[in-house]
Amino acid sequence: MRKILVHLFVISCLCGPALAQTPAPTPKIFLKCGAIFDGHSDQLRKDVVIEIDGEKIVSVGTSAPSGNVIDLSRETCLPGLMDTHTHVLLQGDITAADYDQQLLKQSPEYRTILGTVNARRALDYGFTSIRDLETEGAGYADVDIKRAINHGVIPGPRMQVATRAMDVTGAYPLLGYAPNVPVPHGVQVVDGAEEGRKAVREQIMYGADWIKVYSDRSYFVRGDGVLDDIPTFTLDELKAIVDEAHRERHKVASHAMALNGVHNSVEAGVDSIEHGNYIADADLKTMATRGTWYVPTIFVGEYVAEGRSKEGAPVWVKMLEIHEDTFRRAMKAGVKIAFGTDAGGFDWSVNPAKEFGFMVKWGMTPAQALRSATSAAAELLGVQDSLGSIEPGKLADIVAVPGDPLADVTVMEKVNFVMKGGVVERRP
Ligand SMILES: [Zn+2]
Repeated sequence: MRKILVHLFVISCLCGPALAQTPAPTPKIFLKCGAIFDGHSDQLRKDVVIEIDGEKIVSVGTSAPSGNVIDLSRETCLPGLMDTHTHVLLQGDITAADYDQQLLKQSPEYRTILGTVNARRALDYGFTSIRDLETEGAGYADVDIKRAINHGVIPGPRMQVATRAMDVTGAYPLLGYAPNVPVPHGVQVVDGAEEGRKAVREQIMYGADWIKVYSDRSYFVRGDGVLDDIPTFTLDELKAIVDEAHRERHKVASHAMALNGVHNSVEAGVDSIEHGNYIADADLKTMATRGTWYVPTIFVGEYVAEGRSKEGAPVWVKMLEIHEDTFRRAMKAGVKIAFGTDAGGFDWSVNPAKEFGFMVKWGMTPAQALRSATSAAAELLGVQDSLGSIEPGKLADIVAVPGDPLADVTVMEKVNFVMKGGVVERRP
């Protein structure tokens, strides 16, 4: 019996972090779409009927069937959206006080209840898959939210989770309290290569799909316009964490906003750079060559800049200009870019789909921005065989918007139909 269990474990690991099991399938459904964006193309296809049997798409054609038809003839249908950088356990943290309040005054249990509401919101906004990049002090609560969704207990997107994340002593809040006052931290505090390896093993043991590290802090703009930082982990520490995660067939996401954090992360071989406000040209080149992903999270920067500036950190405003320049250089360098918002870093009552508008403002075509949240995001999550596009054989994760997102990408903020695994979660 034990041998069989071990065998099954190995098989499941080879398949990568499974996103989710879907709820009980429904009978055959036909979606009559005014147009579709299939996840790959630069153009919309007009008047398309998507046939869904159980949890899968079985055909994409034009024939108008009789039976269980959902009329979306005034809508554009798209693959279920993917937000590859969220925090369902966080309720916005513009200021340090917002963050401290949540960790000091709210129990992890209460935060988990709020987290279930955020998971529902993500689904309603059209995000049928999310990569949730750490719980900010709420332990392994993300694993439980994911489990409750997968078991059909609560509605929510398919989730890949990072659990506790890691940073070094003195680098991550809560900070600034007297030495004799024990306070919680938003991460698992890890020092040294061996502690890093142990934390990777521990987090995977308790359900982490991804390992998340914080690679830099304390940002400042140099005279030459470069965004500098203080790296947290040493290169040796980062390499050990990445090596251990990869050895266990898990991927690593690195919060890296500036020069040294990004460089060390790229050198250590992480799988995705989160935020990347400044990335040196040489590192962009390495990322493009190795296929390292860039998850720029533009909107949250806009959202927090003013508040943090008023709190005495005007660097956040300057960082936006630097970020735009980096984004444009990354596109030019051919770096793979995935849609991610840092939802939770801003309040979940704000629709994370605002990110699309900023990506287009900074130089992407609407189709590129949509791919970053569908087929490209699916590749980052390792689920491109089952999700990320509308084609026969794929899981029926489909959303719809009233209008043409290629003409005006902000209609992505008006998703009015959501299907996940063939189950209608929201309709016009
Ligand atoms: Zn984040």
